[in-house]
Amino acid sequence: MSQSEKATQQIRTTCCIVGGGPAGMMLGLLLARAGIEVVVLEKHADFFRDFRGDTIHPSTLELMHELGMLDEFLRLPHEDLRRVKVQFEDEEFVGADFSHLPVRCKFIALMPQWDFLNFLATQAKRYATFQLLMDTEATGLIEEGGRVVGVRVKTKQGELNAYAGLVVGADGRSSILRERAGMEVEDFGVPIDVLWFRVAKTVTDTEPALGRIRNGKMLVTIDRGDYYQCGYIIRKGAFEEIRRRGLEFFREETVSVAPFLRGAVGEIDDWDKVKLLTVQVNRLRQWYRPGLLFIGDAAHAMSPAGGVGINLAIQDAVAAANLLADKLREGDCGIDDLRRVQQRREWPARMTQAIQVFIHRQMFGSRSDPGKALSISWPVRVLLWLLTPLLRRAAARVIGIGFRAERIRI
Ligand SMILES: Cc1cc2nc3c(=O)[nH]c(=O)nc-3n(C[C@H](O)[C@H](O)[C@H](O)COP(=O)(O)OP(=O)(O)OC[C@H]3O[C@@H](n4cnc5c(N)ncnc54)[C@H](O)[C@@H]3O)c2cc1C
Repeated sequence: MSQSEKATQQIRTTCCIVGGGPAGMMLGLLLARAGIEVVVLEKHADFFRDFRGDTIHPSTLELMHELGMLDEFLRLPHEDLRRVKVQFEDEEFVGADFSHLPVRCKFIALMPQWDFLNFLATQAKRYATFQLLMDTEATGLIEEGGRVVGVRVKTKQGELNAYAGLVVGADGRSSILRERAGMEVEDFGVPIDVLWFRVAKTVTDTEPALGRIRNGKMLVTIDRGDYYQCGYIIRKGAFEEIRRRGLEFFREETVSVAPFLRGAVGEIDDWDKVKLLTVQVNRLRQWYRPGLLFIGDAAHAMSPAGGVGINLAIQDAVAAANLLADKLREGDCGIDDLRRVQQRREWPARMTQAIQVFIHRQMFGSRSDPGKALSISWPVRVLLWLLTPLLRRAAARVIGIGFRAERIRI
């Protein structure tokens, strides 16, 4: 053993989860609750960042109820979104109505994702078997005889080798683990990216539209109490051109889609306040290798279309916990067990991504053309008007619950 290897700290656990996003934190909580030793590694020092999406879906609220945490969870500041309203040009219509869903909470709870993740962390820390290491970044895999047996980790204190019976890659769409593991990724090409920024709420709208499409531009406004978290949809590659044209141009673009923001956009006075979020839709052909499993965006990166990625990530975590807890406890988590997780969760991911790709094609075309305006094809507009009541229910089901709802069985 070399001198540097001797200096490397080591930990051993039953399950090491890389990534403290919705997928990783939920899996950590469920395994710890089942008495299984689990370590979650998160590369950031806290959760207080603008993630991508603040939507806690009816299915997740149902899981909170199953865990006996719903009341406590709903005491956190949030907004209830009972219907998703979308505005096309000057007309408003209801895109999804959650009031018919067969669940306790017939709404999406709009809550900053850091509050949600902090809540999961607080709950998980009640169990002695749970450990969350923040500011701790996985940099590679440790393999022995063709099996993943741990991860190499960078911490403020130095290098760490985390050995585990199972490593779970829940490190999101830019997953370093899936790259290191040489996993094959199927990419579906996305013509858009999102500019993410916030503006103060200067007018009170009792039920504001979540999405607005006007003059070939699209803006999402998520109500976060005293401000709006905004997502301005752009063609892939168009950000440089927008920056070149300047902040005044960008503010005017924003106001042209959402005139009610005119009094507030002045606060976007630095490009540092506008973050480019790159949208991807892709999926691993195989979600596992011996000793290693991928879930959430690391297994299937989701577009923001429909706002369902968090839901899928959470549902993956529940399925993985249900299928693997006993095996992990027995120290016998084999390749067939990992395959079962993919078999259970691939179909919902596949169906959801197919819908997202369809929406992208209809709204933005299949090719990325930074100069082309966004538009909604006429067949889609006609369909929306003809089938609205039916679509509302179907959309609510897909967004609120998804294609295969998981229940906690451990
Ligand atoms: C612009 C945009 C808007 C979106 N809006 C919504 C929405 O409104 N609703 C919705 O449901 N979905 C939305 N999504 C999709 C959603 O964000 C993802 O599907 C969801 O966050 C996936 O959860 P996850 O836990 O798998 O991954 P992530 O949320 O990406 O979490 C991964 C975690 O791993 C950590 N990490 C990464 N690498 C390492 C490493 N090497 N070591 C340790 N930690 C690491 C990261 O810091 C992060 O905390 C949006 C996506 C985009 C791009």
